[in-house]
Amino acid sequence: MVKFKLDNRFMFFMSLVVGNWKMNFGIGESVRLVQEIVDKLNSKNEVAVCPPFVSLSAVADVVKGSIELGAQNIYQEESGAFTGEVSASMVKEVGCKYVIIGHSERRKYFDEDEFLNMKLQLAMKHSLVPIFCVGEGLEERSVGKQNDIVEGQLIKGLEGLKFTHEELVIAYEPVWAIGTGKTASANEAEEMHAFIRKVLKDNGFDSKVKLLYGGSVKPGNSIELMSQKNIDGSLVGGAALNAKDFLSIIN
Ligand code: PEP
Repeated sequence: MVKFKLDNRFMFFMSLVVGNWKMNFGIGESVRLVQEIVDKLNSKNEVAVCPPFVSLSAVADVVKGSIELGAQNIYQEESGAFTGEVSASMVKEVGCKYVIIGHSERRKYFDEDEFLNMKLQLAMKHSLVPIFCVGEGLEERSVGKQNDIVEGQLIKGLEGLKFTHEELVIAYEPVWAIGTGKTASANEAEEMHAFIRKVLKDNGFDSKVKLLYGGSVKPGNSIELMSQKNIDGSLVGGAALNAKDFLSIIN
């Protein structure tokens, strides 16, 4: 449990705030941004940043354990003739704790649905903590199919995997809220997070895994979202590219 209730107030354990920088920032800008985050950080929350692959090593030198490092993807094979790809062992070696798996942009532009289970297996084998992204599209939500979609993604992705709640993070990212400025209401997000825990439990998985919300999280909406019982942190895209906004969400 990340939060518990005392005297009708929610007491906060550590939340996890992850910045997904996507295809932004080469080495110079990455180092500048992460240095500012590290210098101004004043929070007990766990923080991770996921820069582009080329910046991982330089960012690792700056963070030196003060915040965590994550990769945005790995390939679904251990090694070999896969030109242009990056493996689980490579991102582990450079210092990553986390790796984002199944981001909706990867599902959409790179047709990754079929490989997500293999990627999750490989990440866990190399002691990376996958941040496994699930979420429905706008059309699916408009016809009330969001639970079916998310349940299907969870069951397909997690099939056959064994993990404790420290070995996996799940991010609920409604696709219609990513980079659009639209956010799920705190109620919608909480409802889905509670549903995800139920699906995990019903399928014999550890349901205490951290559940992050992602989708246009900003300084102005993060407190309400993060104070929901089943929301344990956030996966932040656009607002993670600006130190002031990202720090405000963390703090
Ligand atoms: C994301 O890409 O994971 C994301 C949540 O982006 P944004 O915060 O910009 O919606």
